[in-house]
Amino acid sequence: MRVLLLGAGGKVGAALAPRLVGAGHTVTAIGKDDDWDPEGHDAAVDFTRPDAVRGNVERCLAAGVATVVGTTGLAEDDLASFDSLAREHGVACFVAPNFAIGAVLMMRLAALAAEHMPRAEIVELHDEAKVDAPSGTAKATARRLPGEVPIHSVRLPGLVAHQEVLFGGDGQLLTIRHDTFSREAFVPGVLLALERLQTLDPGLTVGLDSLLT
Ligand code: NAP
Repeated sequence: MRVLLLGAGGKVGAALAPRLVGAGHTVTAIGKDDDWDPEGHDAAVDFTRPDAVRGNVERCLAAGVATVVGTTGLAEDDLASFDSLAREHGVACFVAPNFAIGAVLMMRLAALAAEHMPRAEIVELHDEAKVDAPSGTAKATARRLPGEVPIHSVRLPGLVAHQEVLFGGDGQLLTIRHDTFSREAFVPGVLLALERLQTLDPGLTVGLDSLLT
């Protein structure tokens, strides 16, 4: 596929670009100050910043280019706009708060644990450069658990992306933890999303979980 990679100079983008090429895709690498045109691309991938993602994705979808979105910090209103534009132009928009397959399994396991131990809290830990808090993964995990689940956000140098879901019961504690040690962790999920993009219904699909059968 001819892939427009928005945020190619960033930490995720830099890990992604060579792997996309290695998987046989042709990549147009776009940084913050580059001019770009979605025309002529089969798909776009956005790993930029919360203040840039909406404009980028809307521009791609309006040009009829199916888009994979990894940038976090999206509001419901952003997702509604993506859904309506994607439907209007007959293409898919795939958004995942976490492209690491282990993190998706963490969410599934947490939902299972909550059936038996409903008192849960989430601790998410990320590199200090991460702008949004709580993380998209923490919010997505909380949505799968009963009640209002408190989320604690830690931003420190040295961290990549980590999350613990703690379940408290009488005399016991269950911890489900996932650690991302490098941005390579997100690559297989993005490749899978690109592979499945043309088979998705027009409109918005959220979560890698929906691609992992
Ligand atoms: P990063 O290192 O800050 O990279 C973002 C890149 O986007 C920077 O190179 C930035 O350029 C560039 N950029 C900013 N505005 C742009 C625009 N309008 N058009 C094109 N490029 C633009 O951040 P990161 O760690 O790669 O993460 C990027 C995003 O992905 C964040 O929202 C992060 O939370 C999210 N993320 C998601 C997942 C997931 O699995 N869904 C995993 C990791 C990260 P400048 O540096 O010049 O501003």
